[in-house]
Amino acid sequence: MGKPTLDHRGPAFGELVIRLLNDLKKIFQTEGHVIIYPSSGTGAWEAALTNLFKPGDKVLAYETGHFALLWKTLAEKIGLDVIWIQGDWRHGVRAAEIEEKLNADHQRQIKGVMIVHNETSSGITSDVQAVRKALDKVGHEALLLVDVVSSLGTTPFYQDAWGIDVAICASQKGLMMPPGLGFNSINEKAREYAKKINSQQSYWNWEKIIAMNETGYFPYTPASGLFFGLEESLKMIFEEGLEILITRHQRLAAACRVAASTWGLENQCLDSKAYSDSTTALIVPAGHNADELRSTILNQFNMSLGSGLGKLKSKVFRIGHLGDFNELMLMATLSGVEMGMSLKKISFQKGGVQAAMEFITKGR
Ligand SMILES: *Cc1c(COP(=O)(O)O)cnc(C)c1O
Repeated sequence: MGKPTLDHRGPAFGELVIRLLNDLKKIFQTEGHVIIYPSSGTGAWEAALTNLFKPGDKVLAYETGHFALLWKTLAEKIGLDVIWIQGDWRHGVRAAEIEEKLNADHQRQIKGVMIVHNETSSGITSDVQAVRKALDKVGHEALLLVDVVSSLGTTPFYQDAWGIDVAICASQKGLMMPPGLGFNSINEKAREYAKKINSQQSYWNWEKIIAMNETGYFPYTPASGLFFGLEESLKMIFEEGLEILITRHQRLAAACRVAASTWGLENQCLDSKAYSDSTTALIVPAGHNADELRSTILNQFNMSLGSGLGKLKSKVFRIGHLGDFNELMLMATLSGVEMGMSLKKISFQKGGVQAAMEFITKGR
């Protein structure tokens, strides 16, 4: 990424972009189009919604945690009429509730369903295939939009096979990059739908970008320096192999949970089938403050843990175990947590680190 800036209208750049777009499709597991924006994930959310919907359109969204709430708030801000299925931030999407709302929509006013695949704030992965099945069972034509910001490159995701119309992602989670690139991966149904809607936005417009991308270029200056990083991160993913990468994430997440349950810390996620392979959110025992624990660990051991977001502020801390992450990094992380809890005089069962080591070696 430190390379000198490449002329984004020159031939070398065009070739790089064509390679990247092809490789990205393999990660999203799609034959559709992947659109790259110079944006964070929030921009990619807005891009997807504004390409597809107009103010007043009805969409259905499900509350799995802070990110689902932020996306819903964004949708309302741009004028969409959001049917919000409230959740407790402790379970994944219950597809039956989606099915119920779709069934009740006799006039087929719901244009889209918005789901967060891996809810990073609560450490919950939802079953998006079950949501697809609910749409199919009802025979509802609404588009299915899935936020895969923290699941792509960590958790199985098959856009075409699972019938996902739009997948939204960003560079800084499983793709192991700095922030700065946002992605919309869209299938033919979504593309055609957007063409018909012909929304008034311009900067985010899929068609303009797809047209220029054909020869490897963009309608405006792309974040070209980050493209070198993307090239390298995709190379790393393919070198490891997507399947091996997924089992690595599963194994490290499971080892993290072994430590947590030995300590006696409660997982924010109450459904063992929905445990996230990217992030684990742990609740600190009553009478303690998760942010004070985090700051002790930061000051004493120079390790930064994820904070509780939104209504989980001060109640949970989060361990990220995604991307460029291995056994010894996990063990260092768990050691930092265990030492931090001792320093804060939190009452917990010692031996979480030991239990995680045994779990890891047993599996060899
Ligand atoms: C990080 C994240 C986002 C995007 O956040 P930005 O800060 O805008 O990049 C969106 N959804 C999920 C699930 C995330 O984890």
